[in-house]
Amino acid sequence: MDCLFCKIAAGEIPSNKIYEDDRVLAFYDIDPQAPVHFLVIPKTHIKCADDLNEENAGIVAHVYAVIAKIAAELGLSKGYRIVNNCGEDGGQTVGHLHFHVLAGRSLAWPPG
Ligand code: AMP
Ligand code: ZN
Repeated sequence: MDCLFCKIAAGEIPSNKIYEDDRVLAFYDIDPQAPVHFLVIPKTHIKCADDLNEENAGIVAHVYAVIAKIAAELGLSKGYRIVNNCGEDGGQTVGHLHFHVLAGRSLAWPPG
């Protein structure tokens, strides 16, 4: 499958890696929107939140646990935002489930 994040997960395309285990990979976003901006992806291909179900959604809990661990390691004690864009109107540009973590500045609400 021609999927950018599958290729990054497989190490076929390089990334600025923060964390990796058998199920997820975290790496810095190539076009950061905040002083700290990284992505956490499942290694298995899931297109977007629409494709989560009772069988595969456990990966989301693991992603959140990994985010908490990375946030502590990076010292993000002032807070951060986790963003998961789904579909065209959601602003998704890469069709492989991913969670943005943005930090290092006060973030506006609501998002645009
Ligand atoms: P989204 O718009 O929610 O689908 O987010 C996709 C994100 O992937 C964007 O923030 C891009 O900057 C980021 N991105 C695209 N290609 C790469 C890459 N090769 N390495 C790291 N981040 C990337
Ligand atoms: Zn993929």
